[in-house]
Amino acid sequence: MGENRPLLSMRDIRKTYEMGDQTVRALDGVNLDIYPGEFVAIMGPSGSGKSTLMHIVGCLDIPTSGSYHFDGVEVADMNENELASLRNKKLGFVFQGFNLLARTTALENVELPLVYGKMKDRTERAIVALERVGLGDRLDHKPNELSGGQQQRVAIARALASDPRLILADEPTGNLASLQSEEIMQIFQEMNDEGRTVVMVTHEPDIGKHCKRIILIKDGHVIGDEPVQNRLIASEIVVRMKAERDQEEARRVASQGKVKTP
Ligand code: ADP
Ligand code: MG
Repeated sequence: MGENRPLLSMRDIRKTYEMGDQTVRALDGVNLDIYPGEFVAIMGPSGSGKSTLMHIVGCLDIPTSGSYHFDGVEVADMNENELASLRNKKLGFVFQGFNLLARTTALENVELPLVYGKMKDRTERAIVALERVGLGDRLDHKPNELSGGQQQRVAIARALASDPRLILADEPTGNLASLQSEEIMQIFQEMNDEGRTVVMVTHEPDIGKHCKRIILIKDGHVIGDEPVQNRLIASEIVVRMKAERDQEEARRVASQGKVKTP
């Protein structure tokens, strides 16, 4: 059964914040198992505890109580070095708060975490990751020379470069137009098809339908956990959206032509 061990396993996880004389229960007894190869959407209203959960999953924050095993090891028992190594080598983060460095090229942004992780062939790995997200021709561009969707793809390349087992994304399509969102979801679906586990927070139901399993949280509790029926396939939607865009453009050009030649 070794193969079937959960990649991450939470038991009665609680996270409370003391605010003056008030106690905020951001997570209030979460039980959760996620297995290798899953693609999970975490959904729920604002303030329900999604980001808190992702921070604990990503070992960026520790729970107030409860047990969290990553790959069979109790995270609370790890020392700082073990935690840093886990974050650098096994986890990839695509968080809204994890911004790109402004005066730094795409290539350097992707290379930097590999420096911390003491990875070999850093430049090579960073270039491969950027090519993987379709930015092989943008290596020397700084964030302000890239579109929002391209910047998000740099962030994904940065998460991918260390070849992590688990990719964590908090609202990765949050500020993007629909075609760009689909292109991002296509990359996540491809990464998952290659065997990587993906856990993603989203408040958009259509984005959730690209995943394989939807976990609903409210007031720090898991209140729903369902497999996705009739999953959306981003590569198909991207093709359709581009065809529609091209048709629209052709119609626009044709109607301009008519005005000019009565
Ligand atoms: P979501 O991501 O679902 O919007 P969060 O996990 O960010 O929700 O927050 C869950 C709850 O915990 C909210 O009520 C929020 O105000 C509170 N909270 C989150 N982080 C902190 C913090 N650092 N200090 C105090 N309260 C916090
Ligand atoms: Mg949040």
